Amino acid sequence: MRRFEGSFTQQEPIGECSIGRAIEVLRSGRLHRYNLSQGEESEASLLEREFAALLGVKYCLACASGGYAIHLALRSAKVRAGEPVLTNAFTLSPVPGAIHNAGARPVLVEVTRDLTIDLEDLERKIVSSRSRLLLLSHMRGHIADMDALVSLLDEKGVGLIEDCAHTMGGSWNGRPSGTFGLAACFSTQTYKHINSGEGGLLTTDDAHLMARAIVHSGSYMLYERHGAAPPAAVFEEVRLETPNYSGRMDNLRAAILRPQLAMLEQSCRRWNERYARIEQALRGIEDLYLPRRRAKEGFVGSSIQFLIERRSDEDIRRFLAACLERGVELKWFGDLNPSGYTSRHQSWRYIEEQFLPKTDAVLLGLCDRRIPLTFSIEDCALIGALIKEAFEATRGETAAAAAVMEG
Ligand SMILES: *Cc1c(COP(=O)(O)O)cnc(C)c1O
Repeated sequence: MRRFEGSFTQQEPIGECSIGRAIEVLRSGRLHRYNLSQGEESEASLLEREFAALLGVKYCLACASGGYAIHLALRSAKVRAGEPVLTNAFTLSPVPGAIHNAGARPVLVEVTRDLTIDLEDLERKIVSSRSRLLLLSHMRGHIADMDALVSLLDEKGVGLIEDCAHTMGGSWNGRPSGTFGLAACFSTQTYKHINSGEGGLLTTDDAHLMARAIVHSGSYMLYERHGAAPPAAVFEEVRLETPNYSGRMDNLRAAILRPQLAMLEQSCRRWNERYARIEQALRGIEDLYLPRRRAKEGFVGSSIQFLIERRSDEDIRRFLAACLERGVELKWFGDLNPSGYTSRHQSWRYIEEQFLPKTDAVLLGLCDRRIPLTFSIEDCALIGALIKEAFEATRGETAAAAAVMEG
């Protein structure tokens, strides 16, 4: 049997340029972002300036993690204790976790089989929950129809915070993901689009939101040492009423990230080449649905998803086992038991139980695979072929089993 031998968790090494900068920071001893020599701007501040410029926004804050950035965005948008915050039900656990951490209450919205938020359910839940905020997670890089979404939110007076953990470098109709709402949050954790181990970025054009976020992040009133921040007068208004929730980014991580930002566009192109090869192999297979991508969607194919339809749990487990035999470990969101990162809403027991039949039906057959850039194009063609082979092989078993039952 053909087998794939690569590692699905092996990322690319950190580039020499990043390593060189990191060594300079280590030699300086000034790892803390506010520890500056005369006339120096910190690596953290430079990263913020460069990321804001890349996105075309006014303000940026580098912080401890993507989940922390979401928490801070909600806090800085002045979410009150117990307030309902809408979010799509297909996402990863840091998203409902960040809402909980901000003292708010997640109200989950259904997703479609194209893995984007269901706009009809969103409209219903805006009305029923009276929520004033949507935390939209562009989960696995599937971008909703942002024209329709933004016009619905505007009509209803609901604010938007974007979770762009999987859309850094992505866009809708040519406009960067993360520029459609009040604020956006990015992750620089190892498995995202740029890698500093851990880290997060929060962006906004709202001066007061950013001033609060910076003070929340633990600025010790040294906010004038931020390169992509509002003027001091704005901080004067908020500094004494904003608690310090210590969660800064250090200069070492910022130094590692800056050269990666310059490579982002190229990385995205490389992901999409790999994604296209796997997708090509999976196209046209009966009962295997590839989520639709709209023409305006500038997605980043750093992972691939498909839905197995009209199959029982047992059949899907058999298919997953056949993939694994071939060296292809797929993640499955249908399992009620969270395994690795694949949790679903039923296992977030710290929130109110929610009724989401549409999402549950989608998750039942949802398979997921991250695509590390260490894979060659040929690796991706092979992975696609092996998934197809495993699917065809277990389809036979299913049909045979059904025939026996009927006989
Ligand atoms: C990774 C991730 C986050 C949070 O990022 P961390 O840096 O790990 O805290 C948020 N949302 C989604 C969808 C993610 O995948």
